[in-house]
Amino acid sequence: MSREQEEAPGAPALVAKYSVVRALAILGDAWTLLILRSALEGTRRFSDWQSDLGIPKAVLANRLDRLVEARVFRKTPAHEGGKRMEYVLDEAGLELWEPLAAIVRWSRHWQNPGNGATPLFRHTRCGHACDLILSCDTCAQPLSPFNTFAEPGPGQGYEQRVEPHSRRRANSAVRHGPEALGSPEALALFGDMWAPAIVASAFRGVRRFNDLVAYLQIPPLVLSMRLKELLAIGVLTRRSIEDSERYEAFHLTRSGLELFPYISMLAKWGDRWCDDGTGVPLVFHHRSCGHQYSPVYRCSVCGERISRTEIEFLDHSG
Ligand SMILES: [Zn+2]
Ligand SMILES: [Zn+2]
Repeated sequence: MSREQEEAPGAPALVAKYSVVRALAILGDAWTLLILRSALEGTRRFSDWQSDLGIPKAVLANRLDRLVEARVFRKTPAHEGGKRMEYVLDEAGLELWEPLAAIVRWSRHWQNPGNGATPLFRHTRCGHACDLILSCDTCAQPLSPFNTFAEPGPGQGYEQRVEPHSRRRANSAVRHGPEALGSPEALALFGDMWAPAIVASAFRGVRRFNDLVAYLQIPPLVLSMRLKELLAIGVLTRRSIEDSERYEAFHLTRSGLELFPYISMLAKWGDRWCDDGTGVPLVFHHRSCGHQYSPVYRCSVCGERISRTEIEFLDHSG
């Protein structure tokens, strides 16, 4: 039995609707992240991904199909009337620059501390190398886990738990692209559905083992493995609590709290592109201004809101 199949067969598990988890069902896969990163750099052809990433043909076909279904890519003929097809980033794919920028930012800052001061982005409107400040779209002030909270939205309820990509296959992606996201640890963390879902749950205050099992419907053995990895990467820390009973709680460390922009942008993307027609499962409030918010990035130099067409990723690899 593989380590991903510990769950007994039976009725499909029902889980609270959660845009972050819906988004992770599509994006929480190491091969998918490598495919998307190349796409943002201009890759459009099946054969180019195959040779650049060393990705097995069947895996690449499977990932591209899912991304077309998720409206991340649009399949079009490379030339009018031609037979060869290209995969062009569609609207949902182009909007992924926000969570992907959060991944790049976190990976460089927390995995290469020596590189922490090197600017990663350029805001082409003001022309400056800059950092991205997660901000409230209403009042323009910075957002943090401490000045925001979530409440059930119109789309709250339960749905069938989504099945993650097979991680056994994705592990070979970690071997193929160790530098792609800053470090192998970063690729392992972000290229997984469960690890970011556990982090997102911790932001919502779900911190005990049994509560995480109930909240995410994650198989306990898988949860144990992921918690061990998150502790090793230093994103979570374990605390023993003596209350009426003794239990362990998993808290976000400083580097864990720095994943807030990633989780926020995933939620935003999931709200927009994984909606089931009933509305958002959660609404987010900014305590500082009292309004509901949707997160945006602002430029650390000029302070203006940054749009997709005004951002450049500066490459520091190699
Ligand atoms: Zn605000
Ligand atoms: Zn600027």
